[in-house]
Amino acid sequence: MNIPVLRTVGEIRNLVRSWKQDGLRVGLVPTMGYLHQGHLALVQHGLRFCDRIVMSIFVNPTQFGPNEDFDRYPRDEHGDRAKAEEAGVSALFCPYLNEMYPAGAETYVSLDRLPHHLCGPLRPGHFRGVATICTKLFVAVEPDVAVFGEKDYQQAVIIKRLALDLLLPTRIETAPIVRESDGLAMSSRNVYLAPDERRRALCIVQALDQAELSVKRGEYDVRKIRLQIMALLNSANFQVDYVDFVHPDTLENEESIGSPTIVAIAGFIGKTRLIDNRLLIPPNPTDDQKRVW
Ligand code: AMP
Repeated sequence: MNIPVLRTVGEIRNLVRSWKQDGLRVGLVPTMGYLHQGHLALVQHGLRFCDRIVMSIFVNPTQFGPNEDFDRYPRDEHGDRAKAEEAGVSALFCPYLNEMYPAGAETYVSLDRLPHHLCGPLRPGHFRGVATICTKLFVAVEPDVAVFGEKDYQQAVIIKRLALDLLLPTRIETAPIVRESDGLAMSSRNVYLAPDERRRALCIVQALDQAELSVKRGEYDVRKIRLQIMALLNSANFQVDYVDFVHPDTLENEESIGSPTIVAIAGFIGKTRLIDNRLLIPPNPTDDQKRVW
């Protein structure tokens, strides 16, 4: 039996409302498709809290810049449907473009501060597109819970903030990064990598490992850790967009690892943009720090 694929807001809303009338809790996993284990882990996470999972698949044009890969973004609805069903998804929501952006659409959702960090300045309008489509999906599906991956750390922080600010009744959950066996973070875009690029891409996880090791050994100076990381990334010919150390909630830059800090890396291997991140936790926190956490 194949799971249903719904294409209009009316259809998905009716289905979700009927489940809720039966007392079921409904989760939403928003994706752009071309599913991999990272996406499917979000489904597993959602099933911890929900009786039914809706997965949305929508390659959202407003989050792509003019020189980005919207046209060639990989798509495979048929394969995705089988994988989603196998993972326990109850329905796919694959809306038509004009369902999500009615003719003449001119309303967007944007945040004041969080998009000014990390990927925001390099991808103008990206987080406005993300915030807008996620808000629309929440309004269309009316989920009790929505699940996002920590792979897109800034996105997850932005969606949590947005849900709080807009008084949305949906609880936002996040799930850990899923990696290939050699450590590369799973991504639909990994399919773009030629074999040599795929090997070189490992420099990103090696850089994160290096940062973690340095902190474990007591190095808290961000400038010094960044230098070590840059050496690793440069030797793999990784074209760095940023190596940033930021506060986990505000995304403000940190100068030293005095409390849990996200190290985030973004850049290009050839023409493919990759991102990854890790939470760095300094050992032996002082009592004051423990209290703050
Ligand atoms: P995307 O289809 O790339 O827009 O991603 C849809 C959702 O899957 C987002 O919440 C991503 O953060 C999440 N995701 C993508 N890759 C991974 C991964 N390797 N591990 C965990 N979550 C992921």
